[in-house]
Amino acid sequence: MENSGEQFDVIVIGAGIMGSSTAYQTSKRGHKTLLLEQFDFLHHRGSSHGESRTLRATYPEDYYSRLVIESSHLWEEAESEIGYKVYFKSPQFDMGLSDDKSLRAVIASCRKNSIPHRVLDQRQVHEEFSGRIQLAENWVGVLSDLGGVIKPTKAVSMFQTLALKNGAVLRDNSEVFDIKKDDVRDGVFVCTRNGESFWGRKCVVTVGAWMNKLVQSVTGLVLPIQPLETCVCYWKIKQGHEEEFTIQGGFPTFASYGEPYIYGTPSLEFPGLIKIPVHGGQRCEPDKRTWSPAPMILDSLRQWIRERFGDRVDSTGPVMTQSCLYSMTPDEDFVIDFLGGEFGKDVVVAGGFSGHGFKMAPVVGRVLADLVDNGEAKGVELKQFKLGRFEEKGTGNVKEFEDQVTLADFPSLSD
Ligand SMILES: Cc1cc2nc3c(=O)[nH]c(=O)nc-3n(C[C@H](O)[C@H](O)[C@H](O)COP(=O)(O)OP(=O)(O)OC[C@H]3O[C@@H](n4cnc5c(N)ncnc54)[C@H](O)[C@@H]3O)c2cc1C
Repeated sequence: MENSGEQFDVIVIGAGIMGSSTAYQTSKRGHKTLLLEQFDFLHHRGSSHGESRTLRATYPEDYYSRLVIESSHLWEEAESEIGYKVYFKSPQFDMGLSDDKSLRAVIASCRKNSIPHRVLDQRQVHEEFSGRIQLAENWVGVLSDLGGVIKPTKAVSMFQTLALKNGAVLRDNSEVFDIKKDDVRDGVFVCTRNGESFWGRKCVVTVGAWMNKLVQSVTGLVLPIQPLETCVCYWKIKQGHEEEFTIQGGFPTFASYGEPYIYGTPSLEFPGLIKIPVHGGQRCEPDKRTWSPAPMILDSLRQWIRERFGDRVDSTGPVMTQSCLYSMTPDEDFVIDFLGGEFGKDVVVAGGFSGHGFKMAPVVGRVLADLVDNGEAKGVELKQFKLGRFEEKGTGNVKEFEDQVTLADFPSLSD
């Protein structure tokens, strides 16, 4: 038998938002929990750092809306436990060509899930936003109440603090390189490069863009999760218009469907600047990044800003950019499943959040805690998130609308 140090009910590997919210959930249920992170806590090398993430319930896939609604309650519950805010509410505004298949699917899924929304034409959008957002004649907008901005680094810190308060053990600078089945009893040994080994009754792997590196070295299995390096762009709001683009000024979080898919948040973290990036990136290896990815399709982005926000936002070029990682699956759906094989139901993997998982981290944590507790998640259908979907079809779930993510097919650094 492996010589193990401390024993835990649950070992969570990876302390981004998913691992931190899972550790919060399992420790809250009274499970002795260990959260391991390869770098410093709250580092900027993964996907969960920075100043803003959008929360929206408007999805073309109708299975995400329910998860977002539950998450919005869980965000507030955690805020009330910690005593500060990480989620700042605003409306959500989706827009695109009136016949865009994804936008049509958004409207259909709002109807199916009874998400209050209004479909607005060009003139109504002009009135609603007092000319701040301009649509072409053949575009429509979908305005819904459930939107807002989450502060990511603050949110990760919140869950880690709450987990600690619940008795969890948190260790950073502890890279896990192996997970071994305990042949004597159920459970696993988790081994770090520091030479430590811990025993866990259950293990949850939430290692973001490093998922393949770890899973492949443990099982030989290659998961269809592709890391992308994405570029977050901030643009200058022209003098005198700054307040018009804030949450207090009634400005929404927004997404523009079509090619490219563009999204953004109201001016919040950097007064006078507004975040407007393209949803996409270039393939990368998470340990060999450029740290300065080029803004995607800059000309289209500039044109989009000019056409939507007129002369209120300076569309010459972004005044600030930041690098961040996506973990893409071919169908842009999450992976939440048991690792299987010799590990059976002892190891759960959660990754491939495809650039849209942050808002749902509280419910993902709840679901992962359910899976380690009972082997099934209460009230949530997980079939879209199973690994087996890629065995049936390499590209995973079939959708009747276009991909959202734009993939810059730049050679990766290893090529
Ligand atoms: C620019 C950008 C904008 C986004 N916008 C939105 C948005 O508006 N709305 C939204 O909902 N989502 C958004 N997302 C997506 C969201 O941020 C991610 O889905 C989410 O942060 C993924 O979290 P994670 O915990 O899976 O990954 P990570 O945050 O990367 O966490 C994984 C952790 O595991 C650690 N780790 C890796 N390997 C090991 C190992 N072997 N041992 C120990 N630790 C290990 C890593 O160091 C890392 O800390 C955005 C993402 C980016 C990059």
